[in-house]
Amino acid sequence: MTAILSNLQAVNASINNAALTAQRDAADIMLLAVSKTVPANMVREAYSLGQKAFGENFVQEALDKMHHLNDLPLEWHFIGPIQSNKTRAIAENFSWVHSVDRLKIAQRLSEQRPDDLPPLNICIQINISGEATKGGVPNEEAASLARAISALPRLKLRGLMAIPAPVDGLAEQRKPFAQMRNLFNQLNSAGSSLDTLSMGMSHDLTAAILEGATIVRVGTAIFGNRNLATEIMIKKVNSQQKLSPEK
Ligand SMILES: *Cc1c(COP(=O)(O)O)cnc(C)c1O
Repeated sequence: MTAILSNLQAVNASINNAALTAQRDAADIMLLAVSKTVPANMVREAYSLGQKAFGENFVQEALDKMHHLNDLPLEWHFIGPIQSNKTRAIAENFSWVHSVDRLKIAQRLSEQRPDDLPPLNICIQINISGEATKGGVPNEEAASLARAISALPRLKLRGLMAIPAPVDGLAEQRKPFAQMRNLFNQLNSAGSSLDTLSMGMSHDLTAAILEGATIVRVGTAIFGNRNLATEIMIKKVNSQQKLSPEK
């Protein structure tokens, strides 16, 4: 048995167990395999084992991978920080974008979404832990951004996404996810029709599912550790993006 097969089985078992505990239908929880830094042949293997949806953080890396895998009916989700000059490539090549936190970016994605493709599925990224270096809008700004995005013709607002600060222990992990669930319910009470909570990664997917996650984004637990240099590079890109968002 390959590592990817046994890892996928273990992650799916965790999803099923968490759903059982939460008395939820596991079919309502989608596994997004995060394939940043993972070579195309490993994505191909995961597909052959039944995984269809993949998440990428870097546009150029994703386009290269899509090119190698264009014989497969994969569903691509963009989950990384978005630079204005990359919106066209994202609008033309992805089915979902989880990391929208500015109206200007949403407007560009809507304008640039090709007419022959279905509307681009959008999640608003919420800075749920209030970290200065992380992307995402503060909770208080979610409602107005949601209203503005809902009016854009080539986007379909699906829900909210968050990357809480990492903490240990199920009870601590659940807190920010519970805040996300409350915000999601508030927006729907105020007239949105959101159906997606994109939250939970390798280390906290159980907590996220207990609080209502409908998409969990899992990289390491499927494909193994990314190397340290790559992690440092990713953190740097993320914080530079936040410090100079108009670049
Ligand atoms: C890398 C990444 C993930 C996956 O993280 P793991 O800890 O490897 O599961 C999920 N979401 C986003 C936005 C990421 O950048």
